[in-house]
Amino acid sequence: MLQQTQVKIVIPYFKAFLLNFPTLKALSLSSETRVLKSWEGLGYYRRARNLLATSKILINEHNSKLPKSLINIKKLPGIGDYTGNALLAFIHDQPTVAIDGNVKRVFSRIINKNENKIDFNKLIETNKKNLFKTNRNSDFAEALMEFGALVCKPKEPECPNCSIKNTCKYFKSNKKFKQTKTLNIKVKNYNIFCYIDKMKSKIALKKKHSLGFLDRFYLPPIRESYDNKKIKNWNFHSNFKNSISNKKLNINLYYKFSLKIPSQHRWFSLKKNSEFIPSFTKKIFKQILKKNI
Ligand code: SF4
Repeated sequence: MLQQTQVKIVIPYFKAFLLNFPTLKALSLSSETRVLKSWEGLGYYRRARNLLATSKILINEHNSKLPKSLINIKKLPGIGDYTGNALLAFIHDQPTVAIDGNVKRVFSRIINKNENKIDFNKLIETNKKNLFKTNRNSDFAEALMEFGALVCKPKEPECPNCSIKNTCKYFKSNKKFKQTKTLNIKVKNYNIFCYIDKMKSKIALKKKHSLGFLDRFYLPPIRESYDNKKIKNWNFHSNFKNSISNKKLNINLYYKFSLKIPSQHRWFSLKKNSEFIPSFTKKIFKQILKKNI
């Protein structure tokens, strides 16, 4: 839940999620619709699906226990190196580190070297003996992340009060390295086509898209566009911007009134639906309702 989302926003979702699904078994027996509904508003819905799929696998194939090796844990849906190592440390107390942005920054400052020039797995492997001197591996893995978030902060690290300043090359060096971040942001243009039943304030949505995101979610028909030409038989509604993961979306919204539902579509209310609707689709609703047509 915390991916790209602040703790204070996640807390009410987390509490509600645990009330809805108090045990692994309860989660595994839930419908996807119910799990998605409780995730509504958090975005990155693939995580909710993966969590549900993982709960079923753990119940059915692992006697409700999390595997103890990185290779096996990574076979679970949605679990890569970062989450796998975090789980091995937090749940099984294994000597391992979840390498997130905070941890990378701490290590790169300790050796005073740009993150892009460090092979973190190799660095940890080589320094294993010195790193894992504790028998509280779970606390150590979490402490490293917290240390990066609270002490060795991205801007203005708390060096004078830092307990490892005497071994930190960044602190001691007169030639501190400069961090250069490479952001891989892609700008994409899309045309979205809205069939609208004006009398009933409804919109036609369908599930199948050829997009690389929001796979299997309800959206109006959407196509990547390469120019801003007028589109025959469609009225231009508005342009808006949105961001999904590392994509910046530039969207042209088109509409036409229709009483007949196009094939493979379903009508949804533009105002209120009991069914789960992803935030991206809700933004389209909001955009349509903003301008009287
Ligand atoms: S001395 Fe400063 S830069 Fe070095 S680890 Fe501590 S907070 Fe980070």
